[in-house]
Amino acid sequence: MINKLIDKNNKYLSQSDLKDKLVKLAKGQTPYALIITCSDSRVVPEAIFQSDLGEIFVIRTAGNVINEGELASVEYGIEHLHIPLVVVLGHTHCGAIHASIHKENGKYLRPIISRIQNNILDITDEVEASKTNSIKEAYCLKEKFPNYKGTIASMLYDIETGKVSIL
Ligand SMILES: [Zn+2]
Repeated sequence: MINKLIDKNNKYLSQSDLKDKLVKLAKGQTPYALIITCSDSRVVPEAIFQSDLGEIFVIRTAGNVINEGELASVEYGIEHLHIPLVVVLGHTHCGAIHASIHKENGKYLRPIISRIQNNILDITDEVEASKTNSIKEAYCLKEKFPNYKGTIASMLYDIETGKVSIL
C-alpha cells in the first residue's frame, strides 16, 4: 500500500503549475479558513470547499472534537496565522457519533467518546447529535478565545448529497 502513496505523489508532482505554486507557498501561508472536522475519509475539506494548497488550515480528529492537541492547533491558526474564519464541520453517518450514542468503546477512544457524550447528552438521533456536537465545540472555542475577532461557526456536511449547511 505504501507504493500506492508514492505513485499518487508522483502523479501530484506531474501537475504543470505545481512548481511555481510550491515556491510561492514555501515563503508562508495565509489560509482564509480553519476547519476542524472528522477524520472520516469521506469528509475531505479541501475537496468539499474546492480548496487549493495554502487556502484552508485543517484539523482532523474522529468526531471533530477539540481536545488538548486540537486546541493548540486552533491557537496557532488564529493567533499566529491570523485566520479570519473558524468552522467546526460535523457530518452525517459519523462513526464517532454513532459510537458515542451506543456507548461503544476501545482502548484509546475514551477522550473522544466522553467529549462527544458530554456534548450530546441523551440525544439518540445521529444527525441531531452530530449537529449538537459541532455547535457545542464551536461554542467551546468562543469561550477559549474570547478576544478572537474573526468568525467562529459550525456546519454540517451531508455524506449522501455533498451539501454543507450552516448550523
Ligand atoms: Zn465522523
